[in-house]
Amino acid sequence: MSYLMNNYKKTSFTITHGNASTVFDDSGKQYLDFTAGIAVCALGHNHPKITNAITAQAQKLLHVSNLFATENDELLAEKLCKSSGFANVFFANSGAEANEGAIKLARKYSFDKYGEGRHEIITLTNSFHGRTLAALTATGQDKFHKYFMPFPEGFLYAETNNLQSLNEQISDKTCAIMIELCQGEGGVTPLDKNYVAELYKICEQKDILLIVDEIQTGIGRTGKLFAYEHFGILPDIVTLAKALGGGLPIGAILAGEKCKNTFCYGDHGSTFGGNPLCTAAALAVIDTLDEAFLAEVTKKGEYLKAKIKALNCPNIKEVRGIGLMLGFELDGIENTSVYTAAMEQGLLVLTAGQNTVRLLPPLIITETEIDKCIQILDNILKEKAS
Ligand SMILES: *Cc1c(COP(=O)(O)O)cnc(C)c1O
Repeated sequence: MSYLMNNYKKTSFTITHGNASTVFDDSGKQYLDFTAGIAVCALGHNHPKITNAITAQAQKLLHVSNLFATENDELLAEKLCKSSGFANVFFANSGAEANEGAIKLARKYSFDKYGEGRHEIITLTNSFHGRTLAALTATGQDKFHKYFMPFPEGFLYAETNNLQSLNEQISDKTCAIMIELCQGEGGVTPLDKNYVAELYKICEQKDILLIVDEIQTGIGRTGKLFAYEHFGILPDIVTLAKALGGGLPIGAILAGEKCKNTFCYGDHGSTFGGNPLCTAAALAVIDTLDEAFLAEVTKKGEYLKAKIKALNCPNIKEVRGIGLMLGFELDGIENTSVYTAAMEQGLLVLTAGQNTVRLLPPLIITETEIDKCIQILDNILKEKAS
């Protein structure tokens, strides 16, 4: 019997520890981890740089509140801005919280410039933006819009990769468009490059802010520090979380030139946001993701994608994704049955969207480990193939 609320389908075994791309359960069984805590543990488990950084920080200072200046948050904000085109940063604790803040930021920008009523946020079908009320409303999937009525007003949905549908939603009330450049939970679906280019143009022309949710795609996952770099755009606002803290909870809102001065004293806040411990971990992550590291991610991503394609399984309908954010959609085999069979054989994978198996290994994964993963998937798919 468990005293935890019944929100998750938990495993019958307990994970006790991990090292690099492997985790261990209470019976000593090992699992090759192609989930990385759902794109969180970018540097794998028990990475010495992160462990050392947080151990040293724990002996100095955990928390003093945002009334005081501290070193790590300043340093992390500077590094994030200097490695992107952004002007400044607000730190939160999670993805949903970062998105909530981004929505507030966009609405205030519009209010300051155009007054009341220009507050609508357009998001895309199959998107996922988090579980708090506004982030849940922003999430473009009907299955999430039950029970919790009333939802906040001012959210509209356009069909993913459909410019006409987007244009139909845009009006003089539109304040921002919020997108994932590769939809994660929705099924590992990268947006069309042409679609993004057109959407970007529309945003510029109409002074609609472009919010890119990089909570899953950001921090090296796609082989670039940010996925927007693949699309030749610079969004007005980017949200981060997941991999940023390498396993500690931290979220961030990056603001471009347009809205860098939008939040003023008292407009937004977060007790734990940017605390010294989580930012120490994030600094260790950011310092590790140099050009050479990211080039390896790209190489390993291409290797994994080629290997999935080479499985040549008739039940694989499509292989999708960028860098080490990959998925394959199945037809005739349930993704959940692959999830369960893989776990039995010591491989952790994720599911997503429409019958898709999603692979999000730690970015430090090796080619040997990729081979092992493919071997297990090959066994499973051959056994289940129709
Ligand atoms: C995980 C995720 C979120 C929500 O992050 P939480 O930290 O769980 O609140 C939001 N957007 C995207 C794209 C995500 O993948």
